[in-house]
Amino acid sequence: MWPGSKPQGIGSRILSLLKDKYAIVTGAASPRGLGRAIAQMFADHGATVAILDLDRDGAQAAASDLGNNHIGLACDVTDRAKCVATVEELLGRWGRIDILVNNAGITQPLKLMDIAPENYDAVLDVNLRGTLYASQAVVPAMRQRGAGAIVNLSSVSAQRGGGIFGGPHYSAAKAGILGLTKAMARELAPDGIRVNAICPGFIATDITAGKLTPEMHEQILAGIPMGRAGAATDVAGCALFLASELSAYCTGSEVDVNGGSLIH
Ligand code: NAD
Repeated sequence: MWPGSKPQGIGSRILSLLKDKYAIVTGAASPRGLGRAIAQMFADHGATVAILDLDRDGAQAAASDLGNNHIGLACDVTDRAKCVATVEELLGRWGRIDILVNNAGITQPLKLMDIAPENYDAVLDVNLRGTLYASQAVVPAMRQRGAGAIVNLSSVSAQRGGGIFGGPHYSAAKAGILGLTKAMARELAPDGIRVNAICPGFIATDITAGKLTPEMHEQILAGIPMGRAGAATDVAGCALFLASELSAYCTGSEVDVNGGSLIH
């Protein structure tokens, strides 16, 4: 504490970081996923949250786990009309949207020459096209209010050229998200909308769909100076920072949450 400063109830201050905010988190139905942890932390800090995912029942169950007033809706982020209709529905209920977290993503552990057109389409569509479409759906309402925060989930894979789990098409999609984040940040800053990206390293979730062997796991851990996989809450804390006024002067940034696996 600085000399002369008053002791502050840091807990009570932190608990209101997103008080009265309305937030959308895409791909947040996966029980051990990053989206779910982000949604939970946002709700814990006072936000009302909408969980959008492929499966309506899963999204609704996840939303009710967060507590009262949260909403779960089916929305495939690769479907532009569905993104727009879903945001319209939320605006009808809430009147505004303060925060969008573009978290929906898929990965595939393929080598370059094994990437078939359908693999490329699937991975680029959910990660990159989905980030674009969900953002396009919320921007008009954010612009109207002159405020908003968009947080995009990229990956260390974009920065170091894969080497963890996803193939080159995943690295390309996540690198595309970094470019999109920066271009959106530049274009939307005059409208009071901040856009930032998170680059998680290796985080223990179900995205590897049982395809991660014990050998791969050991090899990945050997490359992490902090010596452990990240927890979903490690990423959620960063998302909370970027969604809240704590990061009021940050836009176009990419924040590493990787245990030191890429220091650059
Ligand atoms: P996860 O597989 O646990 O959850 C992803 C969620 O996205 C699922 O609920 C799934 O149903 C949903 N989803 C998939 N396609 C969708 C679509 N078209 N529309 C809407 N929802 C869709 O994954 P996760 O590990 O929690 O990853 C979350 C994000 O973080 C992803 O973008 C991922 O690429 C990124 N990421 C994860 C890691 C990691 O180590 N786990 C590392 C770097 C980046």
